[in-house]
Amino acid sequence: MAASRVQTAIKSAENSCKARGVNLTSKRKQVLSALLQSNKARSAYELVDYCKDEFGETLPPMSVYRILDFLQNEHLVHKLKLANKYIACTHIACDHDHGVVQFLICNSCQSVKEITIDKSTINTLQRTVEDAGFQLASPQLEINCICHSCKN
Ligand SMILES: [Zn+2]
Ligand SMILES: [Zn+2]
Ligand SMILES: [Zn+2]
Repeated sequence: MAASRVQTAIKSAENSCKARGVNLTSKRKQVLSALLQSNKARSAYELVDYCKDEFGETLPPMSVYRILDFLQNEHLVHKLKLANKYIACTHIACDHDHGVVQFLICNSCQSVKEITIDKSTINTLQRTVEDAGFQLASPQLEINCICHSCKN
């Protein structure tokens, strides 16, 4: 994400945290901007390294996990469950309803795109899963893809 868009997203995140009565501390802001600056998902340990290199901040992994929990609760960050990595929400600076998120993950360059699939598709999926005798544990789909630039 371009620097100006990172700034806009951080500003919006600050405002929404303030409106919810929680504090986007400087460490939380560092982890969020580390994720915003990447189009790939990052693990907690990659974030520890990034914050050390980029901000000269030594954050123990436990603190990074706590910060990531906070950011997830505030809907600023999503967790990719299969990869056990984190990605900044695409809609931090948006007003519209978020919906159920799905992720397209390029298996060549690991870039991630957040998309929203319409409710009826999710309902169909849910029915199919239940017909098979399973229960959908999470409606979040993480789909194995090839991105546009890797395809070309
Ligand atoms: Zn999102
Ligand atoms: Zn949006
Ligand atoms: Zn790719």
